[in-house]
Amino acid sequence: MITGAIAVMTSGGDSPGMNAAARAVVRTALYEGVRVFGIYNGYKGMLADEIVELNSRSVSDLIQRGGTFLGTARCKEFKTEEGRRKGLENLQKHGIEGLVIIGGDGSLTGGSLLSKMGGIPIVGLPGTIDNDVWGTDYTIGCDTAANTAVDAINKLRDTASAHRRIMIVEVMGHTSGWLAMTAGIAGGAEYIIVPEVKYDLDEICAEIVESYKKGRRYSIIVVAEGACSGVGLKNVVQEKTGIDTRVSILGHIQRGGSPTVEDRMKASMLGERAALALISGVSDVVFGFDEGKVVSINLFDSVNNRKPLDPELVRLASVLV
Ligand code: ADP
Repeated sequence: MITGAIAVMTSGGDSPGMNAAARAVVRTALYEGVRVFGIYNGYKGMLADEIVELNSRSVSDLIQRGGTFLGTARCKEFKTEEGRRKGLENLQKHGIEGLVIIGGDGSLTGGSLLSKMGGIPIVGLPGTIDNDVWGTDYTIGCDTAANTAVDAINKLRDTASAHRRIMIVEVMGHTSGWLAMTAGIAGGAEYIIVPEVKYDLDEICAEIVESYKKGRRYSIIVVAEGACSGVGLKNVVQEKTGIDTRVSILGHIQRGGSPTVEDRMKASMLGERAALALISGVSDVVFGFDEGKVVSINLFDSVNNRKPLDPELVRLASVLV
């Protein structure tokens, strides 16, 4: 049971909804009568003692903003035991008795190693647009990113159709195909290429040529960055089909923007649960969602397993795409 102070930080790649999650952690802790500190700029800031006490107003006017008001960073030093020890000392100096880490796989791995050293209970929240954290259907920011990608696909279809082009749309996702698969299905793409599913480019190109002969005006191919490069794919597709082919790499716009209602709501629910659990004495868990309900996942299981692409998405794509 924590009665003194906890801290919250964001780390790794930013994602829309991290602010909503951190806000929920801060306000829940204060509601429970526990002081709360913000660690700025991820593990880098933890090591540099960028640790500031927050109040309710510190998290005003934030729920609608993308990015993270706490900042985020990557920190090599934290990968060493010496670095983590320095971080732990800084936390203890401020009287911090528990820590909520909002971040992706790497950040949660860092948290698991900090926890193993003892001295501070850790609760993780999955914050990444990639939706690739094991044990949860959902990660904070994935819905906003998917909406951004679908919006781009809608626009690219208009111009592809006007010129009878093939449009390759490269989306993020790191090594996971979740974002490409979801945006491709929701955006009505003709083909979706993800690292988890085998594809035959000769067959795809032959199909496209046939469809253009029958009058088709456009083809959208969504490709996950983890499967292959959009530029490389464009060159091959153009050569094999002889059809004018363009590529659009969506890039970092997928990380930004005001979070959707789903991301705000789920991030708020996760933030509250994380703060309550930490204060009540829980450690080494990650909170996520399973079939619409908040669930707790063992932190070590979460970081030691690789999340597969939901077979239901793959099946749906095979029927509809
Ligand atoms: P994400 O959390 O989005 O997956 P990274 O993989 O870049 O992003 O991780 C963010 C930070 O977490 C790293 O800069 C590092 O400080 C810490 N981290 C990542 N992996 C490890 C690890 N294996 N051991 C210790 N710290 C790690």
